[in-house]
Amino acid sequence: VQEFIKKIVITGGTHGNELTGVYLVQNWSKQPQKYHRDSFKCQLLLANRKAIVAGRRYIDEDLNRCFSMAKLQSKKALTHEHKLAYEINDRLGGKGTQDAPDVIFDLHNTTSNMGVSLIFGQVTPYVKSLLHQLQSHSPLVRLYYMPEQQSNSSYLPTISPRDICVEIGPQPHGMLVSSLYFLAQDILTCALDFTEHYNSNTSQSTLPDGAAQLSVYRHVTNIDYPRNDRNEITAMIHPQLQGADYTGITADTPIFIDFLGNSIAFAQVAPTLAQTGKEYYPVFIGEQAYLEKGIAFSLTEACVL
Ligand SMILES: [Zn+2]
Repeated sequence: VQEFIKKIVITGGTHGNELTGVYLVQNWSKQPQKYHRDSFKCQLLLANRKAIVAGRRYIDEDLNRCFSMAKLQSKKALTHEHKLAYEINDRLGGKGTQDAPDVIFDLHNTTSNMGVSLIFGQVTPYVKSLLHQLQSHSPLVRLYYMPEQQSNSSYLPTISPRDICVEIGPQPHGMLVSSLYFLAQDILTCALDFTEHYNSNTSQSTLPDGAAQLSVYRHVTNIDYPRNDRNEITAMIHPQLQGADYTGITADTPIFIDFLGNSIAFAQVAPTLAQTGKEYYPVFIGEQAYLEKGIAFSLTEACVL
């Protein structure tokens, strides 16, 4: 069955201090030719203006955790971001309805060395073909599969049945790295051009094969820092792990280092996982914004979709 993409939304500033998306959306808004294509409608949105002005990730709570169906339907919104989630959901047509966008690209930055990580939860033939195309377009593209029911997922782009979070790094929050800005622009342009081609090609014979195998990193779990009984962290990311996102680790790999300089191996941190003997691939290593969430890094495993 051919999927026809009628409406794409590109969002920036879902986190107010992640500036690639903020500036890209602001700049593209003045140059419609950047995002206008003939076969579909494309809309740009600056998600959290108040947080952008304040130069902060959010004002009251993380906007990108406010879009589960349960939260969108809850009667009382007490925070700025919860109210904003209602507004954005209404403006974009309504999660789970026919009026929702066919695809949402939500632009983010990470302080971790993740290149262009495309984080997605739903897999359709269009999504597979698109990701295949983007993966072959740039060696910096990584595909990060986070399977979750659309209704349960709290991420903004899950308003749409095809959610793609474009996570770009390493970039300190509140700053712009020019090479990453142009990379983001290049990847988005490629995605829009691909979609135009996809819509116009009913046989899809000249497209990357949506049925072909796609190499992805699938989310396994999050790992917190070691902590004492006062909840203070007692170790840092090990220097060998720092910046080594998407590099395989096994039981003996040093993961943390305590403040005296003692290394802590993966087997000491996650014995059950380490015992499987499998290789895992850490991502979001040391991400600044995840310290408050109790996440030192996330673990993924390589798999084929
Ligand atoms: Zn973000």
